[in-house]
Amino acid sequence: MKSLWNDRVAADMTARLLESCGEPLAWRTYASRLLGASPALVLHGGGNSSVKTAWPTLTGESVPVVCVKASGWDLGAIEPEGHVPLELSRLLPLIRLEALDDGAMVNQLRLALFDHQAPTPSLEALLHAFLPPIFIDHCHSEAILALTNRPDGEETARRALGPGVIVLPYVRPGFPLAKAAAAAFAAHPDAEGMVLARHGLVTWGKTARESYESTIALVSRAEAFLGRELEASPPSPVPQVGAVPALDEAERRYRETAPLVRGVLCGEAPEVGISHRFVLRPLLDEPVLRQLAMPGARELALSPPLTADHLVRLKPWPLWVEDPAQLAEGVADYARRYQEYTARHAHRLPTGARLADPLPRVIMIPGVGMMCAGRTAQEADAVRDLAEQNLLVKGAMAAASVPYQGLDEGHLFDMEYGVTQLAKLHAPSQPLAGSTALVTGAAGAIGWGLCETLLQNGCHVAASDLPGERLNDLAVALSARHPGRLLPVAMDVTDPASVRQGFGVATDAWGGLDIVVPNAGLAHVAGLEELELEAFRRLHRVNVEGTLLVLTEASRMFRRQGCGGDVVLISTKNVFAPGAQFGAYSATKAAAHQLARIASLELAPLGVRVNMVAPDAVFSGGAARSGLWAEVGPGRMKARGLDEKGLEEYYRQRNLLKARVTAEHVGRAVLFFVTRQTPTTGATLPVDGGLPDATPR
Ligand code: ZN
Repeated sequence: MKSLWNDRVAADMTARLLESCGEPLAWRTYASRLLGASPALVLHGGGNSSVKTAWPTLTGESVPVVCVKASGWDLGAIEPEGHVPLELSRLLPLIRLEALDDGAMVNQLRLALFDHQAPTPSLEALLHAFLPPIFIDHCHSEAILALTNRPDGEETARRALGPGVIVLPYVRPGFPLAKAAAAAFAAHPDAEGMVLARHGLVTWGKTARESYESTIALVSRAEAFLGRELEASPPSPVPQVGAVPALDEAERRYRETAPLVRGVLCGEAPEVGISHRFVLRPLLDEPVLRQLAMPGARELALSPPLTADHLVRLKPWPLWVEDPAQLAEGVADYARRYQEYTARHAHRLPTGARLADPLPRVIMIPGVGMMCAGRTAQEADAVRDLAEQNLLVKGAMAAASVPYQGLDEGHLFDMEYGVTQLAKLHAPSQPLAGSTALVTGAAGAIGWGLCETLLQNGCHVAASDLPGERLNDLAVALSARHPGRLLPVAMDVTDPASVRQGFGVATDAWGGLDIVVPNAGLAHVAGLEELELEAFRRLHRVNVEGTLLVLTEASRMFRRQGCGGDVVLISTKNVFAPGAQFGAYSATKAAAHQLARIASLELAPLGVRVNMVAPDAVFSGGAARSGLWAEVGPGRMKARGLDEKGLEEYYRQRNLLKARVTAEHVGRAVLFFVTRQTPTTGATLPVDGGLPDATPR
């Protein structure tokens, strides 16, 4: 492993930060980012670092502190405020205690803070406080884990790294580990660093560079040892014949299988609520497919994770099924086994902690790939990265004929349910967390409002429209506000292949869909006398056939997933109160409305609800002007002798509530249905300020 230290970059960055945070924290920030830049050292919030310095008090004194990485910060992107100062004189006496549970420890850490709003420091803060060196780096290096996750792990680490390195057996992170590390350091104050078996590495130095480069030196030594071990081992076994599909074949199988997996994770239709939905992210590159097909891959995959830090995201083991047909049975078995595991250890559950759902986060299917589940795409991505690391490191050990041995079950439970570990998963409280939606006509005025409302409520949204600038503008604007949850999908609702492909793209990204909002529509102004057949057919293709194709594809998706779903058709008040000169629009929208009512009859047995929202006169939404009004507005303005503002006012004045109807209002009506506030299907909700003629009957 190469050192990433660069004197010029370091000098630039520390010079820039110096004024705001002082020299020690500036160096700490630079070196921590280097540690965080190597996935082989730390992944997703793993690892931490510290520096000891002096901190001013309100009364003008200066007291010794340790600045420790706070939870919620990733080392790779850390800023100076990511290391929070803790007053050492409050922490050091704690070493005299016999025991200190996580909750009490967090209390003590928070008492030592200078800022009541500061995030809670890392679970390993006391280790940083109790060890005397100024700079300390702690990582969960892959190479160190490969040395120590084996039956003779501690002995192997000593052989690989030499006598100058302390090797501690596994000790539960928190107070027990901090105390053990301090005692070991006191016995060998000249040691180069400290291996924490089945956990990671701690190094130190007088300067940030010394501590960081010590990590690099020890990891390099470990890598060299592993390299020699691999060279000396017998030739690796080969994957089972025919079990590694070509990548495009694996992708095809994934698209077919992912909705099944989402379905079994959600539970059985139709009584399923919306609170247990997961987003799935795929992991199906060549090395992964190959590893899944190796002899013994299943046993290896089911062994405990490389480090306890991974527990909270990966759970103690993945779900392995040989065939997608076994998924339902596999998930039920998994849940049973997980509940038995938590029951065996429930007496150790920290006060106030709740047991997690008994569902797997990683699903492995040889020949298909891996699926990683999270309540958000971002969370599922973190699961995916950790799962990949586990698979490949264990695979490399197997290739060198080294037996793998991870932590025992009790330690796994302690880490999965540690107070500070649970804090890493900020349970999303948004009503549509884990849900996925496809909106058609997303780049129009109402489309913007629909997408924005769904996104604001935690949903992942596939925003589909014809390819072009309007769709790009929407994607840029909404992705910036809701990173990772907006997927632009170029789709033509009049083309069956394009609709199928659009649903496929959403499945590849998130595993399937829960909510479908057919919203794409066209308008045309002409009296029946002069209405051209081709103009009518153009509207028919989008408003009727487009709705039909989307409903067809949605029905197939919901049937495959088997966990319910919601369709909300954006209808119009014209279905109930048609307007003169508006025949093509009113008739085609009425047909679409009727199709949705049919869908409510046909899909109810699947637990799918189909409802309609009927707005009146929405002029704009987000950055989009209404296409309908671009078509209709000028004629209406001319007929009534009004300008645009005047026309908007005219529509406001004609409803009972004198309300101006916005795209956001339409979004909220959709939200009402898809959050399943009432047991309702086949219903129409007007969003029009009250138009007695248009009240659905
Ligand atoms: Zn650690």
